[in-house]
Amino acid sequence: MGTVAAHGLRKSFGKVQALDGVTLDVPDGSFFVVLGPSGAGKTTTLRAIAGLEQLDAGSVHLDGRDATGDTPAERDLAMVFQSYALYPRRTAYENIASPLRARRRSPGEIAAAVDRVASLLHIERLLQRRPAQLSGGEMQRVALARALVRSPRAFLMDEPLTNLDLKLRVEMRTELTRIHRSLGATFVYVTNDQVEALSMADRVAVLKEGKVQQIGTPAEVYERPANQWVAGFVGSPPISLLPCQAQGDHLVGAEGWTLPRPRWATAEDGRALVLGLRAEDLSVERRGDASLPGELYGLEPLGDRTVVDVRVGTEILKVKARPTVTGSPGERLRVTVDLDRAHLFDAGTGLSLA
Ligand code: ATP
Repeated sequence: MGTVAAHGLRKSFGKVQALDGVTLDVPDGSFFVVLGPSGAGKTTTLRAIAGLEQLDAGSVHLDGRDATGDTPAERDLAMVFQSYALYPRRTAYENIASPLRARRRSPGEIAAAVDRVASLLHIERLLQRRPAQLSGGEMQRVALARALVRSPRAFLMDEPLTNLDLKLRVEMRTELTRIHRSLGATFVYVTNDQVEALSMADRVAVLKEGKVQQIGTPAEVYERPANQWVAGFVGSPPISLLPCQAQGDHLVGAEGWTLPRPRWATAEDGRALVLGLRAEDLSVERRGDASLPGELYGLEPLGDRTVVDVRVGTEILKVKARPTVTGSPGERLRVTVDLDRAHLFDAGTGLSLA
């Protein structure tokens, strides 16, 4: 078993409300990602689960049992930090073995466990080196191996890939999902990188200013964002957001454009709304009934695709296009909109109307 539940976590540091009623239920064996911008309260949430933070209110249950008053050791969780926190004078082998030595396991058991995680992380040939003789990525693997060498109730990971270069980070994402699958263990993983979250998680909790905005699968958070803020935070290039209102059969933009009103848009006429359009649901190449007039503002070639910036009134829309697309700034064009995939938010509350 490895369920982790945090209910109503509250924590302030002076005037800063770091956690404002955070509730998370992490199923056994899941890869649960806490995603949010810097300062959202992710690390504080993880530290609270680990028992490293004195809470103002709230409870932590592990495997269904109230662990709120337990010491970190009693909770039996392994934590991986962004700073590797390796012992500088010890070899990689000794670093990885240290949690087992502290628990007085036999030398044979320790050797077998270190071999197992070293092969899992492909670091067999690094075991006799000290941290100073390792690259950042190698140190990261050793730090992960040290956490994975035990079989704790769950693993807590705080942005463990941030110090790696992009190529290694992408490799480690695949590695971590593979390791997660092979261990079948519960991972609670904190990151501010939405690509990391969407690519690795079974479930994502999106956090902002100490409050959970939405919890769901990566697809749910991306396809059905609970509010305008989540829609803007998740997805790259960012979703385009256009102020508008419903009028009869149409959506009318603050910029003067009109689109047919989607069947699902049940808002009453005149209510202030925001239309959210993802880059892949817009096109400057296709033709369709639902389209917006604009002018080309810029092209961002990204190799496999080009993002076309189109100015519609004062707003810039991000449109995904083929890499061969061309055009000059100022050129007039129409952006075709897939309205079935569009999002509508209440302009006042930011909440999704879908
Ligand atoms: P990051 O991605 O930058 O690590 P985070 O989402 O992990 O951010 P936290 O580290 O949990 O955010 O911090 C949440 C808020 O609480 C921030 O405003 C932070 O400045 C504040 N905070 C965290 N720890 C302390 C502390 N020990 N003393 C004072 N303020 C703190």
